[in-house]
Amino acid sequence: MVLERPRPAEEGPLQARDIPEPAPGPGEIRARVCVCGVCHTDLHIVQGELAMHKLPVVPGHQVVGVVDAIGVGVKGFREGDRTGIIWLHSTDGSCQYCGRGQENLCINAKFTGYDVDGGYAEAVIVPAAFAYHIPKNFSDENAAPLLCAGVIGYRSLKLSGASRSDRVGLYGFGASAHVVLQIARHMGCEVYVFTRTAAHKELATRLGATWVGDAKDRPPQELDAAIVFAPAGPVVLDALHALRKGGTVVLAGITMTPIPQTDYSLLYHERVVRSVANSTRQDARELLELAAEVPVRTEVKLYRLEEANQALADMKHSRIEGAGVLRIG
Ligand SMILES: [Zn+2]
Ligand SMILES: [Zn+2]
Repeated sequence: MVLERPRPAEEGPLQARDIPEPAPGPGEIRARVCVCGVCHTDLHIVQGELAMHKLPVVPGHQVVGVVDAIGVGVKGFREGDRTGIIWLHSTDGSCQYCGRGQENLCINAKFTGYDVDGGYAEAVIVPAAFAYHIPKNFSDENAAPLLCAGVIGYRSLKLSGASRSDRVGLYGFGASAHVVLQIARHMGCEVYVFTRTAAHKELATRLGATWVGDAKDRPPQELDAAIVFAPAGPVVLDALHALRKGGTVVLAGITMTPIPQTDYSLLYHERVVRSVANSTRQDARELLELAAEVPVRTEVKLYRLEEANQALADMKHSRIEGAGVLRIG
């Protein structure tokens, strides 16, 4: 499914097209795509809410596939291996950020389904050094949401500084939050979920949330940390209102509506607001290992590849509990 001209998801921005089958270059592998998860970033791309890097482009960056072609010099993968592909497609390995272990901020990073064609397709190319082995206990469709929703959620949780017995607030309850909830519970945290949607409240309760409410609600106790998944600036202030002194609010989205002006007192007492951008390969490896250990159970709603526009529209309107996944192979 190819994006040629960004527009609202309801207007069918993605079109089915026959495109030449890509061949792997040196160090690259080709994966025959089995499934590809649907991410909010895909929605922002197809709707033109991010600056476009490549058009036409095939979106999709939560790919589970089977390796069917290998470029020269590839190590770690053989034909027939199952593999996972994430948002971070490649880095230069040489800039100041790569040098300080922050490859997620690499100035020459390329992203799957944005700078290069992604997984809403039958085949996708990736450098083997940026592909992952997926733990055996996950089916293809249950693994897909781990690859971005899970990885970014996990990085957000790490950067929130939350530890055992802490109270963690999750604002917005889509694919990422439903994975983070399970990991935070596994770590021994109490989880407070803020969402409007009745079905999302019910899923959060089922997965072990201590408390569920609306974004404007005050939790019964102050939060030690909060993660904002909703791309809505005013929610940042809701989270700050619920946060204890010295607590951290992490903003997990790639874009957000403006954050309203506020009194300094809401931030004072060493409260921290920080964003999360992309993830490192180490984040992805850690998350996959941890998800298998928990074990994380992902809720997925399956669509056919041709239904990608529908899947994006359903996600936009919070009609998916857990994650949307396209079944391709
Ligand atoms: Zn770099
Ligand atoms: Zn994503």
